[in-house]
Amino acid sequence: MNQIQNKLLESLKKYFGFNQFKSGQEETLISLLSGYSTLAILPTGTGKSLCYQLFGKMTQSKVLVISPLISLMQDQVEQIKYQKLGGAIALTSNLTGNERKYVLNHFDQFQFIFASPEILQNQYLFNVIKNAHIGLMVVDEAHCIAQWGPDFRPDYLTLGKIRSQLGFPLTLALTATATPAVEREIQQQLRFENNSNTIRYSVNRPNIFLATEILDNQEEKNRRLLELVQQLKMPGLIYFSSKKVANEITDLLDRKTNLRAAAYHADLSIEDRFSIQHQFIENKLDVVCATSAFGMGINKKDIRFVLHYHLPADLESYVQEIGRAGRDGAQSIAILLYCPGDEMIQQQIQLNTLPDKNEIQYYAQHPKIMSLTNDDSIEILNSFFKMGVSAEKLVHFFAQRKVHKNQALLKVLAYINTKECKRNFILNYFEEPDFIEHNRNCCSNNGEYDLKNLSLEREKYIKEHVKLKEYPNILQTLFNLQE
Ligand code: ADP
Ligand code: MG
Repeated sequence: MNQIQNKLLESLKKYFGFNQFKSGQEETLISLLSGYSTLAILPTGTGKSLCYQLFGKMTQSKVLVISPLISLMQDQVEQIKYQKLGGAIALTSNLTGNERKYVLNHFDQFQFIFASPEILQNQYLFNVIKNAHIGLMVVDEAHCIAQWGPDFRPDYLTLGKIRSQLGFPLTLALTATATPAVEREIQQQLRFENNSNTIRYSVNRPNIFLATEILDNQEEKNRRLLELVQQLKMPGLIYFSSKKVANEITDLLDRKTNLRAAAYHADLSIEDRFSIQHQFIENKLDVVCATSAFGMGINKKDIRFVLHYHLPADLESYVQEIGRAGRDGAQSIAILLYCPGDEMIQQQIQLNTLPDKNEIQYYAQHPKIMSLTNDDSIEILNSFFKMGVSAEKLVHFFAQRKVHKNQALLKVLAYINTKECKRNFILNYFEEPDFIEHNRNCCSNNGEYDLKNLSLEREKYIKEHVKLKEYPNILQTLFNLQE
């Protein structure tokens, strides 16, 4: 091992207490420390944040992190505070006038500064940041720059200009998924230098078996779900598109199995969410029935299965969600259960999250109401308006967006229906050149798979817990008998 690698490992241990880098972290750090702007395309949960945090600590420099959503920024700030890495602040429209004043007057205290592109339009604030000399500019969730991507944020288009106004600081763009076309779009928009680096890891996870099953109707699906969870090695995650159904299936598992299950979604309090995450990590829960709210920052290595009860919105989200399985490298499985009509749930979500003509015109006339809602899609609409985009253009834009979302959903259906290798289908979608030789540990392309062969079958009754509360009468009888 060379000296640089030793130094990096030493610092990793010193600041984070970790003994090893995860895939891509070391390469990303070496690229940055060598002075090259870098685009790191690494799967969710690989610790992308650590790349800029460690860079900041090693070089003692200020780090400006651009993030698309206030909730993401706040999570990161909390984490940095928790790890006692240094001063961190999220510059958002949530700060009161006084708070903002305090922050700007004590800017030296903050090493990690989180900001939305929108807030950087404030000239005074921007000048404070500029004069503070940014050692590293980070663009988190960089795929939001891609105009036809699923998470496009219009104000991300201002980042190239911001970067130039800051004097082209060393820049790290982070994303979990980007096709080669999106990669080029990110580099162009951010005005990356010609000698910038891309660190990309394949989306392929060889230890995750890919299975899909088509069921006739919802009852069949529930029956199959119960059958599967009785057979599968624990722990596991089940994903839902609906909070209500996540609750219902948790109840069903409670009634019909001995598994310890909990529902996890945005309606829970922060305390409850934290508690469920902890119980899951400490193996006090077998199954979490989650919506996509679950996952960010979750670092459980031995998840054996990720089951989808509902369709994911697109293959990007699917790959991210199933990627939570098998982080320890052991054999795991992703199973997508589909029954005809399931796509309507996603279409309904699209209708709810993409503002229509009437809504756009209404908000255009009543901009004040928008700042009162916490809705992500309204936050996006609001940033369009602030950029001066007309209601007419937005109607067109969101209509286009709907077409693209629908196409992405059709790809998920094609993934389910394909008779070819599913792994190659996904690699093909992400335009990865290397095709995999299909074998029996790969996917259910012929519709069949065998949990026993995959060593994913649960040893019967070993981990199951008898719930005393369900057997009071038996206990009573026993007790009386003994008396
Ligand atoms: P991403 O942004 O890539 O989805 P995060 O930056 O949120 O991932 O990190 C996910 C988790 O991985 C965090 O809990 C983090 O502490 C942990 N982590 C990061 N780097 C390492 C490492 N080298 N060893 C162990 N855990 C790590
Ligand atoms: Mg992240």
